[in-house]
Amino acid sequence: MATDKRDYYEVLGVERGASAEELKRAYRKLARRYHPDFNKEDPLAEEKFKAINEAYEVLSDPQKRERYDRFGHDGGFGGEGGFGGFESIFEDFFGGFGGFGGFGGRRPPGPEQGQHLRYDLEITLEDAFNGGAKKIRLSRSESCPDCEGSGARPGTKPERCPACGGSGQQQVTRDTLLGRMVSVQTCLHCSGKGTVVKEPCPNCRGQGRVVRERTIEVRIPPGIAHGTRLRVQGGGEAGVRGGPPGDLFVVVSLRRHKLFQRDKDDLLFELPLQMALAALGTEVEVPTLDGMAAMKVPEGTQPGTVFRLRGKGMPRLYGRGRGDLRVKINVLVPKRLTAREKELLAELAQLEAPEEKEKGFIGRMKDAFGGR
Ligand SMILES: [Zn+2]
Ligand SMILES: [Zn+2]
Repeated sequence: MATDKRDYYEVLGVERGASAEELKRAYRKLARRYHPDFNKEDPLAEEKFKAINEAYEVLSDPQKRERYDRFGHDGGFGGEGGFGGFESIFEDFFGGFGGFGGFGGRRPPGPEQGQHLRYDLEITLEDAFNGGAKKIRLSRSESCPDCEGSGARPGTKPERCPACGGSGQQQVTRDTLLGRMVSVQTCLHCSGKGTVVKEPCPNCRGQGRVVRERTIEVRIPPGIAHGTRLRVQGGGEAGVRGGPPGDLFVVVSLRRHKLFQRDKDDLLFELPLQMALAALGTEVEVPTLDGMAAMKVPEGTQPGTVFRLRGKGMPRLYGRGRGDLRVKINVLVPKRLTAREKELLAELAQLEAPEEKEKGFIGRMKDAFGGR
């Protein structure tokens, strides 16, 4: 928590036993001195102003003050909620400020970029392999074509706001305990646009924006990775007050494939192979994303062996060539044997590993448990 905070009494420059009246006087003096609107050049003024308000908010409340005297900052003051509360106590104290400029430098609204949009697009591994165009359908707001975003009936134009003279701002003068204060607020008449529409455009009802269903073509580069964000500049929502549209982000995910797993530019494929063929060696055909490819399985191939077919994997994104196809051999041990097969395998077992047979059962067990 905020343990490096300054003591609230110290912030207000009063004794610990200060009366409510003394606190009030100290607060008023400091708040006037550090109010951000009077200290535009001093970047620290706002921080100080916040601290003063927070201190006063606690110490002016007898219950909170008591808790603070007992527990200090550990009593759970300030922190996240600290800023939210003070504008209101400031207003309580000095009288409402209405649209008082705002302490964080709230600007009158100008052109604003439209919202970005996100679209989740699932594609197949084949799509990622081949690349190309994908069509997506989405609805988004666009600048009204009839009034070109002005909101005024075609043939008319928005007029300069009579209330603010086009600046979008109004000065408000108020008499407060701090004396006369002039503040700038967003023009209520035109909501800060500086213009008003006399006759609204019937197509967008004066909004300047309409919602449209659109089909957009997205280019998928060959070799695209799962999770890639493709950016379509200007493909998002229409801008506000003449601002540019936002962007559209298409987040591409790859559907699982029946045969292949992907590891960056490589593809992984598991080839089931009969036990006898693994032992004897053979030539097989393996699938790739562009047709079948021949592969040699050498004699004595062990289960789990991985063979690499160079250049049969995914295209390298924005690069030359392709990754590899890695073929893992899955040796199939027959589960149900015909009498003939049994006979043959039994014969094979007799032939195999004479050394093993000499050792006998006990010797093999010992080996299995790591004994000598
Ligand atoms: Zn319109
Ligand atoms: Zn105005």
